Amino acid sequence: MRRLLFSVSASLLCLGLGPGCATTPAPKSEAQTPPASSPTATGRGGAAATVDVRATSAALEVLRSGGNAVDAAVAAASVLGVTDPYSCGIGGGGFLVAWLARDGRVVTLDHRETAPSGLERARLYEHGAPLPFEEFVTSGLSVGVPGSLMGWSEALRLYGSRSLAEVLQPAIRVAEQGFPVDATFHEQTRHNVERFRDFTSSAALFLGPDGQPWPVGATFQNPGLARTYRLVAQGGVSAFYRGELAQAIVSTVTRPPLVAGASRTVRPGVMRLEDLERYEAVVRPPVTSTYRGYTLYGMGGPGSGGVTLALTLNLLEPQAPASLSRARFLHRYLEASRLAFADRNAFLGDPAFVSVPEAGLLSREYAARRGALLEGTRASTTTALPGNPFPHQGPARAVLPRVPEVARPAAEETAPNKETTHITTSDAEGNLVAYTCTIEGEGGNGMVVPGYGFLLNNELTDFDLPASVDARHPNTPAPGKRPRSSMSPLLVLKDGKPVLALGSPGGSTIITTVGQTLVNHLDFGMPIEQALAAPRVSQRNSPDNTSQAEPAFIASPEAAELGAMGHGFTNVGPLGALTAIRVHEDGTVTAAAEPTRRGGGSAMVVEPVK
Ligand code: GLU
Repeated sequence: MRRLLFSVSASLLCLGLGPGCATTPAPKSEAQTPPASSPTATGRGGAAATVDVRATSAALEVLRSGGNAVDAAVAAASVLGVTDPYSCGIGGGGFLVAWLARDGRVVTLDHRETAPSGLERARLYEHGAPLPFEEFVTSGLSVGVPGSLMGWSEALRLYGSRSLAEVLQPAIRVAEQGFPVDATFHEQTRHNVERFRDFTSSAALFLGPDGQPWPVGATFQNPGLARTYRLVAQGGVSAFYRGELAQAIVSTVTRPPLVAGASRTVRPGVMRLEDLERYEAVVRPPVTSTYRGYTLYGMGGPGSGGVTLALTLNLLEPQAPASLSRARFLHRYLEASRLAFADRNAFLGDPAFVSVPEAGLLSREYAARRGALLEGTRASTTTALPGNPFPHQGPARAVLPRVPEVARPAAEETAPNKETTHITTSDAEGNLVAYTCTIEGEGGNGMVVPGYGFLLNNELTDFDLPASVDARHPNTPAPGKRPRSSMSPLLVLKDGKPVLALGSPGGSTIITTVGQTLVNHLDFGMPIEQALAAPRVSQRNSPDNTSQAEPAFIASPEAAELGAMGHGFTNVGPLGALTAIRVHEDGTVTAAAEPTRRGGGSAMVVEPVK
């Protein structure tokens, strides 16, 4: 239930608005003054970087009270569920990658949303064609079984030092006291106005009585979400995956809370209580690769980021950056990314359903063979075909699957500027966490679970839908399957010690944003804060010579030189919103967030040194 109040009469209005509203709202100053913050901070004792100052502050609060980097990441994520509700939250899922200092190992935790057991592929087709995208997004059918809470709980149980009840406290406070609507929040609401108006619960939470987004400066409170977090703090994950909350989620999916006279057709989904009861977060081995003396640990299937990044860098590695101009190096980077995406699109999917030739794709021999395609100095003008990694698999024989034409590519493939968010944390013990979480598109599927204050995801739009319902493809929907993701939380080690954690939102441009930031930092020697702020370009196997790029990249001297090599660029506005932590040799760290993209992020350290 939404309560959005103007500061002057906050408590009076709140008291007048019925159940679920905070009865003792915070004083105006507490709700409205964000802690001081900047996008870069250097120091020791633990650090955090997120897109939002309250989330970073929550992580710092947990670190200062003796919690570790995993505890801090979960605290930050739960606050982002309040302050960045159109990007992430308990209605969604995520991937967490952590360096555990005491054990000297990297772990990854997949808590990706999962297709309900009743979701046969044919449900997503009508008259022989995939459902129209707009109808799929805003429907019960696009909702995957949410994984966030199971992920948080498992992360804390396995690697944390605090209980869920403890780390949820900052988020409960922010949800109850509220925070000022900023330009980003206002804009994101505006993009969703038409959808939110069609659902009683979404309009009640996110729109004013006039059906418009709340103005910048108004105080937004979410007592429904505070109540949900309290239920979970008391009852643990079973309060979410069983009982009243599970029932409310299933009701929302199967009987969408439409207003009378809604403007759209909203198809109900098929999620059942058993789907929630059976949901599991999965600890998976990281995808490991090396690049110029560094070891990279990324997310494996159903994620595609780890393999695609490793493949891109394996292709780049033979040519040292110092031997080329920056533009020539970028040319190779763009072409390598094109080839890596051709393989990603052909071979990667949920490993529980698809036999992914990961060893072949990551082998040096395969990269050497495929790298021959990088030799020229002209931009490619057509889509690259996938290679054949199977002979490099070891004992497995080469059988190259025929990948069908995709009628409707996955959502994370097509739209570069969607939401999702990335959190990076470290602690005094040396643990390091890269955590990306999402509800897929901006505003997820548009439906708030009535009374509980959170949006449901539309993650199942990350499946590919081939033109024919029977066609084989690694990323087609199936009951219990997880859609392929581009989320790329990444850790980098040198000589067995962690040096860097990073990640970003941005659909499939996540992979190129993380890749370009690595190249900027490791190859071009930019400090991490400069590497992540630099103008971006993204090549994901386009059908012609064009790459997507930010205006500042298109205006750069490198772009002019690349243009002379035949590259073209499409202006797509800002790409991604990265956060990172760089560990320095003296043990201090630099936490870095975006200086301007998505309104600028927030980085903090426990003990600043500069
Ligand atoms: N759903 C996307 C994925 O898992 C992320 C969405 C985004 O970053 O905008 O790859």
